[in-house]
Amino acid sequence: PTYIIIILIISRLISTIGNSKPSNILVPHKLLTLDIGARLHLDPAAIKSASSDYGNIFKENPVAVLYPSSTEDIVALVKAAYNSSVPFKIAAKGRGHSVRGQAMADGGVVVEMMALKNYRNGNGITVGSGFYADVAGEQLWIDVLNATLEHGLAPASWTDYLYLTVGGTLSNAGISGQTFRYGPQISNVYELDVVTGKGELMTCSALKNSELFYAALGGLGQFGIITRARIALEPAPKRVKWVRMLYSDFSSFSRDQEYLISMNGRRQKQALDYLEGTLIMDQGSLDNWRSSFFPPSDHPKIISQVKTHAIIYCLEVAKYYDDHTQSTLHKELQTLFKGLSYLPGFMFEKDVSYVEFLNRVRSGELKLESQGLWEVPHPWLNLFLPKSRISDFNKGVFRDIVLKRNITTGPVLVYPMNRNKWDDRMSAVIPDEDVFYTVGFLHSSGFDEWEAFDDQNKEILKFCENAGIKVKQYLPYHRNKEEWIKHFGSKWNTFAQRKAHFDPKMILSPGQRIFNNI
Ligand code: FAD
Repeated sequence: PTYIIIILIISRLISTIGNSKPSNILVPHKLLTLDIGARLHLDPAAIKSASSDYGNIFKENPVAVLYPSSTEDIVALVKAAYNSSVPFKIAAKGRGHSVRGQAMADGGVVVEMMALKNYRNGNGITVGSGFYADVAGEQLWIDVLNATLEHGLAPASWTDYLYLTVGGTLSNAGISGQTFRYGPQISNVYELDVVTGKGELMTCSALKNSELFYAALGGLGQFGIITRARIALEPAPKRVKWVRMLYSDFSSFSRDQEYLISMNGRRQKQALDYLEGTLIMDQGSLDNWRSSFFPPSDHPKIISQVKTHAIIYCLEVAKYYDDHTQSTLHKELQTLFKGLSYLPGFMFEKDVSYVEFLNRVRSGELKLESQGLWEVPHPWLNLFLPKSRISDFNKGVFRDIVLKRNITTGPVLVYPMNRNKWDDRMSAVIPDEDVFYTVGFLHSSGFDEWEAFDDQNKEILKFCENAGIKVKQYLPYHRNKEEWIKHFGSKWNTFAQRKAHFDPKMILSPGQRIFNNI
């Protein structure tokens, strides 16, 4: 009701008086008189749900939450902000699986994108006749998988975890073990519908409004709200041979990883379909939420290797197959693995369905959730770093900082990918070498402990700076403009110009803290 919003505005104004930092946002009373007024929620439950994220570290309250019923609702909201004498901030929130408040809007309006699903009547994903699907921005990748499989098709590029929205991952990049061969998810998009910061709904692609297309892909939500993506599809395989091999020596591990990703042509028959890697350390259990894999009877011999070497490196690969490639699969893998330097006797295999493989993280999530261990702080650090320095990183970070602090809980990922599968015109930022690694510290912590992990993250970043290792953060979190300028490097000017063009009043995704921080 109107009187509530008036009280809210007044109380916000009062809280601003005497505060040296000006209130950045006021949501105008006029909003409630618009059609979307009925779908703007101001109640504590709505505010609470939009004021936290998977990271469980940041808390920022919006003034209102929009549960849109259509793209037009989003257009109306952004237009209202743009035309307001004091533009208010707006953040699209997908699944809210960011870890540092990136989908929050302190004092502004959060758009609960997933509310749109209720109005789609099952039409959020349409598979076209030309190997693509038109997918609404709020859809989850798991739903994209299920819908496309009905046509015998599927996207080629994935994230490890499928309960993320299409709009959210395309605003970052969307990476997983498929990236070395198929590129990140942003390299597998033909077209987007985007509501810009001026409230204009624009269709864009490499040929039409290309500046907006490249800006939005990896654009951290800065240029517009993605309401539809046309995603490339391929014939879906049926089954997956999934293999893990253990190494005690990092240089053999990374050499083998780099050798395997050197075969990466989309049509190259012997190439793998997926390659990742993880550290195995003495964390109490060999299994984590990213999957349990090793047969329990083999745990003692693996644990014994971990005790001897402190860190064991686990190379993880997958090769898809179906009825007509099944007969040659074994031979192909044998040839591919010949000459690899994993520890003899430490190769483990599974044979699973394609869906089971892609959705491998879900069971771990549900298990942790049932134990109350999923909704805890997640002080994550995700990095991209050049291949030439990965061995220095192993020595200085894995073997020194991580072992000395001895607090790491949760998966630590390390795997390489190929720069030529990325498109430099897009906003996503990667190191300047043909092959680069991603390293992800996917920490979970107690509510009082996340700062210790944050200290470790800071020490890692400091180490890289001192050692001259030019890392880029993935799912970046930076505290001020200088850090963002450094992050974007030679892309900064383009990024800032695109912002001035598509969101001149700096309305969108304030939680990234790029243009409207501090
Ligand atoms: P949100 O967190 O809701 O939003 C992220 C950002 O995008 C915000 O700035 C938001 O304002 C903006 N945004 C949201 N929707 C839109 C839209 N429609 N249009 C424009 N901007 C929008 N990432 C990987 O690449 N690979 C992985 O394997 C992977 N695994 C993960 C596993 C887990 C358990 C978790 C928690 C995260 C993982 N991530 C992974 C990271 C994930 O891709 C990002 O956090 C992504 O932003 C989450 O999507 P979301 O839908 O929750 O987005």
